[in-house]
Amino acid sequence: MVPANELIDSVYQEVVRRNPGESEFHQAACEVLMSLAPVLVKYPEFTENKILERLCEPERQVIFRVPWQDDKGTININRGFRVEFNSALGPYKGGLRFHPSVSLSVVKFLGFEQIFKNALTGLPIGGGKGGSDFDPKGRSENEIMRFCQSFMTELYRFLGEYTDVPAGDIGVGTREINYLFGQYKRITNRYESATLTGKSLHTTGSLVRTEATGYGLVYFLDKMLRTKKISLDSLTCTVSGSGNVAIFAIEKLHHLGAKVMACSDSDGYVYDKNGIDLETLKEIKLGYRGRIGDYINHRKDAYFKEHGNIWEIPCKVALPCATQNEINGKDAQMLVKNGCIAVAEGANMPSTPEAIKVFKEANIAFGPAKAANAGGVATSALEMQQNASRDSWSFEYTNNRLKEIMESIHDVCYSKAEEFGIKGDYVQGANIAGFIKVASAMLELGLI
Ligand code: NDP
Repeated sequence: MVPANELIDSVYQEVVRRNPGESEFHQAACEVLMSLAPVLVKYPEFTENKILERLCEPERQVIFRVPWQDDKGTININRGFRVEFNSALGPYKGGLRFHPSVSLSVVKFLGFEQIFKNALTGLPIGGGKGGSDFDPKGRSENEIMRFCQSFMTELYRFLGEYTDVPAGDIGVGTREINYLFGQYKRITNRYESATLTGKSLHTTGSLVRTEATGYGLVYFLDKMLRTKKISLDSLTCTVSGSGNVAIFAIEKLHHLGAKVMACSDSDGYVYDKNGIDLETLKEIKLGYRGRIGDYINHRKDAYFKEHGNIWEIPCKVALPCATQNEINGKDAQMLVKNGCIAVAEGANMPSTPEAIKVFKEANIAFGPAKAANAGGVATSALEMQQNASRDSWSFEYTNNRLKEIMESIHDVCYSKAEEFGIKGDYVQGANIAGFIKVASAMLELGLI
């Protein structure tokens, strides 16, 4: 049989050849593949059955036109995507992203990551992702609704609670999910709640789904630090972004006694020497959907650095919660030099490979996205459970389930790394644990 490293290299070269120009997808595939040599040695059946090759090819990819009219009556054309990557463990599950940077490559990287993340939750969900290059910024409520309706008018035929169940991501929150669900219901004439998650409470959504990714991230971080006998209490933190994930990560950090010094949006960052005031942040971002620079108009001791690099701020804990590749090698060096002891990824693939190398070499606690930010999708799966049983659970019960799931993900990654002789390496631990679960299911399902 071909040696494991050679096989991995040739699979990766094939991914690059078959998906030209898709740099984000190449990066995500490379990151996972390069962890798997010891697994292939231990389980030769994965190689014999071409599991790697099958995993790197999505089961189905859909690209479609989204025509819609703005408030002035002008016709706009956007592009919609849904990549249904792998359904060995359950229906495709993963968010929709509305952002001008969305391309097939971005959707494929997110969908690929989602396969392993969903496997780590221990819940019956496969991996998929979707979105559009539509830019919701500055659009009116009516424009957002019309866009969502047009998007769903094409996408609905691929969805279903046993087939594919989207949720939110960048630019897609409860408001957009509700519009998408409304149109799905109208076209299909069926109130199939479990076809979309992240819905509002009035439309069969779940308590804690809004908070889940941010809270889950901090539960994972806390467990990682406790494993090293460190308490989060009083630690200074920096959180990039100020969207859904960032806001609720900050909220949970506050609950656990940590002090968040700075957060950001794509305009720059704010620093508050008294610690970021959560109510002010929520009013700006969730209330009137403003820009982060407004923060200094509410808090006199804070300053705003336009286009500033948030990673220049000294902190003990860094939580990147904005977007992919937002921490490069230099940023990572700066964080380590300034005394950072832990990084947990709220965003998907926010650290470049160079940054991850720096963190590993400095031996800091590093929680990779596919483990650390799995709380959102895990709670989406809990929403599906509630919908399927026509039930709704309390905040406390759902939050406890989320915490248990995040601690279990931590433990699975930790013990897999230990089993493969790389104790403390959560990157490899997550990749290996997620891969073994999906690969085993693929084998058992036969050649499909
Ligand atoms: P939101 O749209 O709610 O917020 C995104 C935040 O990141 C905004 O503050 C935005 O600023 C900022 N941002 C986006 N792109 C850039 C950029 N290029 N440069 C600087 N800042 C940027 O999205 P979410 O909070 O939902 O998602 C954030 C990350 O978390 C994404 O990587 C997403 O894939 C990941 N994630 C989200 C989950 C969820 O449940 N929502 C689940 C798991 C992962 P601005 O408004 O200026 O664009």
